Amino acid sequence: MEPLIKTRLLKQRACNEKNEKGKICAGHLKRWYHYDEVLRSRFGANVELYRCEKCKTIYLPNPEEEPRTATLAW
Ligand SMILES: [Zn+2]
Repeated sequence: MEPLIKTRLLKQRACNEKNEKGKICAGHLKRWYHYDEVLRSRFGANVELYRCEKCKTIYLPNPEEEPRTATLAW
């Protein structure tokens, strides 16, 4: 199944995806390092991805939020 990919809201720490009952998931978004080749080629090797630990929705960084790993990316 293709994972759902969303963009994080500013300072977002919890998943806002709704489950099949219409409830907000509210799972914790964790920094995710183990993404596969498909996502790597799509978003680059240095992208700061997060993943909901409950529903596994993948979150891309918010473009307005400074990445914490900016210095490492160079
Ligand atoms: Zn979730």
